[in-house]
Amino acid sequence: TATATQTFIGQEARFGARNYQPVPVVVARARDCLIWDVEGREYIDMMSAYSAVSHGHLHPRLVAAVQRQLQQVAVTSRAYHGTTLGPFLEKLCTVAGFDRALPMNTGAEAVETAIKCARRWGHFVKGIADGEQQILVARGNFHGRTSTIIGFSTEADYRAGFGPFAPGFRHFDFGDMASVRAATTASTCAVLIEPIQGEAGVILPPDGFFRELRDWCTRNDILLIDDEVQAGLGRTGRWFAFEHEGIRPDALILGKALGGGVLPVSAFLADRAVMDVFNPGSHGSTFGGNALAAAVGLEALLVIEDEDLVARSAALGEHMLERLRGVMHAAAPLVRGVRGRGLWAGVDIDPAHASARELVERLAERGVLSKETHETVIRFAPPLTITRELIDRAVDTFQEVAMQKCR
Ligand code: PMP
Repeated sequence: TATATQTFIGQEARFGARNYQPVPVVVARARDCLIWDVEGREYIDMMSAYSAVSHGHLHPRLVAAVQRQLQQVAVTSRAYHGTTLGPFLEKLCTVAGFDRALPMNTGAEAVETAIKCARRWGHFVKGIADGEQQILVARGNFHGRTSTIIGFSTEADYRAGFGPFAPGFRHFDFGDMASVRAATTASTCAVLIEPIQGEAGVILPPDGFFRELRDWCTRNDILLIDDEVQAGLGRTGRWFAFEHEGIRPDALILGKALGGGVLPVSAFLADRAVMDVFNPGSHGSTFGGNALAAAVGLEALLVIEDEDLVARSAALGEHMLERLRGVMHAAAPLVRGVRGRGLWAGVDIDPAHASARELVERLAERGVLSKETHETVIRFAPPLTITRELIDRAVDTFQEVAMQKCR
């Protein structure tokens, strides 16, 4: 007879679209940094839903915020005002240092919001003819999955067969100012960029790149739009990854952890001179900024602050990276690189010895959940609430699995 695991996986395979290839673990329950599957096996969560669960699973304060708000009202759309949206937006703007925020639901929607804002700003403020606005994006970028966004991806898998794509995007090489300069034209209204390229494999920018980019944008009247959907809200050991670079972008995109691991909540932030290109009717979403999401978003920010999750990410991130570098030395040449910032690491696997996927599945069998990105990188990004002990247990397991493969 089939196990519960086989039954649930079979049902998803039978009735679900085939757009994912999950690790074969059926999650039934989770609490903070631990996950239990439907057979009752325990796992350490070293992925935190691509940074959406930075607060740990079902943080009691977030659960309480949901329950409290569900005694009041959940959704009215933006047709009316509410009692949770204002407090959420004020806190968000204060924490991030921007005048205004526009709430959406998913990261991709907030990126779309940024694109619309940049183009409108390019037309109405910079004076570029409508339809001629250009946005510069990095090779290797990941900003979401809508048809506009994949249209400027450089990944064949994301694009193949999905054309025609929206015009108005030009590419540069991440970290390379010469290619930014070469891509810039009089019609460039914005640079849209991740501070660390997440899906590309946790790729850090070279020192000084963002300062030069900031300078270039300022001198050429170009908006610098920072997509921190994955990097923001403490993941890198600062509230925002741009702080590591000593710059301030003109606009910021947040998502994932903004929903406290319980709901989709995203936002686009900018100062008045940029955001005020939106007027009533020009943009919106039925669920964006709904009463429940706003209550959760506010609590998500307060918990990060009250529990000092940013400092925790910095300190434990150092420890995690140091331990992973230890694995690199112990399990060379299989593990050939380790990099990251805060509680966010990419580990390069030499494909001559093993695929990243194979190691991820071995790790899952031994109670550690991670995820491969492309064929050669394993990503570790646990909840920011993780303990030193759990990091050690997870990395010890990774070292055992890697060393077995080396022999
Ligand atoms: N931007 C970045 C930098 C991301 O990493 C992601 C998701 N991985 C997105 C945007 C898209 O977010 P969502 O999946 O919520 O649409």
